[in-house]
Amino acid sequence: RDHARLLEEKTSKSREFHRRASNVTPLGVESNVRSFDPYPFYIEETDGSYVYDMDDNEYLDFLLALGPIILGHGHPEVKEAVKRQVEKSDLTATPQPVAIEFMEKVCEMVPSIESVRMANSGTEATMHALRVARSYTGKEKIAKPEGGYAGAHDYALQSVYASEEALGPEEEPNTVSYGTGIPDAISETVVAFPFNDKEATERILRKHADDMAAVIIEPVMFSCGCLKPRDGYHEFLRELTDELDIVLIWDEVMTGFRLGPQSAQGRFGVTPDMTTFAKAAGAGYQVAGFGGRRDIMEEIVPPKKKEASKWNSSAFHGGTYNGHPVAAAAGLKTLEILDERDVYEHIDRLGDRLFNGLQEVADDAGLAVNVEHIGSMGQVYMTDHDIHSYRDTWHANTDQFADWWLEAAADGVLFGNPLQGERFFTTYTHTDEQIDHALEVAEDAFRAVDH
Ligand code: PLP
Repeated sequence: RDHARLLEEKTSKSREFHRRASNVTPLGVESNVRSFDPYPFYIEETDGSYVYDMDDNEYLDFLLALGPIILGHGHPEVKEAVKRQVEKSDLTATPQPVAIEFMEKVCEMVPSIESVRMANSGTEATMHALRVARSYTGKEKIAKPEGGYAGAHDYALQSVYASEEALGPEEEPNTVSYGTGIPDAISETVVAFPFNDKEATERILRKHADDMAAVIIEPVMFSCGCLKPRDGYHEFLRELTDELDIVLIWDEVMTGFRLGPQSAQGRFGVTPDMTTFAKAAGAGYQVAGFGGRRDIMEEIVPPKKKEASKWNSSAFHGGTYNGHPVAAAAGLKTLEILDERDVYEHIDRLGDRLFNGLQEVADDAGLAVNVEHIGSMGQVYMTDHDIHSYRDTWHANTDQFADWWLEAAADGVLFGNPLQGERFFTTYTHTDEQIDHALEVAEDAFRAVDH
């Protein structure tokens, strides 16, 4: 079966539309990760577990907007909260109670967050968190695991994806900008270390400790698919950063409010100094933020407003759209639902069924596959190699993955997107029947790809 051709036949309107879109925007998409070959499907409607493209094809959705859609598409109560807020107020440059109420809920739910500010994307959240950490410590460098994605600003776009040649030895990797247009001076302020390797992590952090303001790390590295921490790794990093006066920032943009009501930090029982969040906090609306220890967040406060020079002794945080009332209303309703209903029980149970099932059907199909997951999030690696670090993921066959993905998409199931470095999810509206159907489609797709 020629799945690529089958899909092309089903998506002729998207193919045409891609030409039109490419006239006005690079690659014909709004964000680089939405682009894939030969062209993306343009989605016009979403509902519960499904999305519908402009050719009226229905897809059972596990891509879920790269994470935010935790309650299913268009949860009626979130929709209602949004509609009510739209009727009530739009943006003002004076604060609104709904945003404060959202932030109260965040502080109530997330162990590390005593004080918080809102942002509009994960990128903004990590950018501001890093600045505040630098201000607090008076130090400049930051450390991050190689392979980690912490947003699209220059400091975060370091050692995200790079070749072995560029990265050098894993025990002491070079810092390499992801893409062009980033000044070399930025790379000099970022230090990369290998995730899950205690010895190398400790050596690298000790070497730079006097200049190191913060470590920014995902508790589970979903930016490499799904790299779970080895036992004790986060406890070790917590102790080491305490000892070295380095602010520990958990980038929970992907895991926040997804791995549990307290986020990954509740699941692992480790409390960072600062936390960033976005995605699941808003169930599809532009909700993001960063927060943490009160004494660190106080860096944002100028000591005395009247003395102009004192403004330069605090870290700036601002933004016209921060705490937008409609986003805040969506976020508040989302967190209330997450806190009060059986969402995690449901998505984690279906996550176990889906990802364990994928391993089984891949094994039955005779393909070397390693499925990694935790709770409602996971990824399929086309390799039987163990996956603990970014470089382990290089063993996976990315072409085979893209073929498998396309096979399933042609049959109406979106297992994430065709990039091996991404991951996919279960959501509150998924049912056992939908998981059964997805596994049947997945098995056929595994059998169809070249072995
Ligand atoms: N941090 C992590 C761990 C992410 O996965 C992402 C996005 O996928 C970001 C930061 C950036 O978030 P955003 O795309 O909202 O800017």
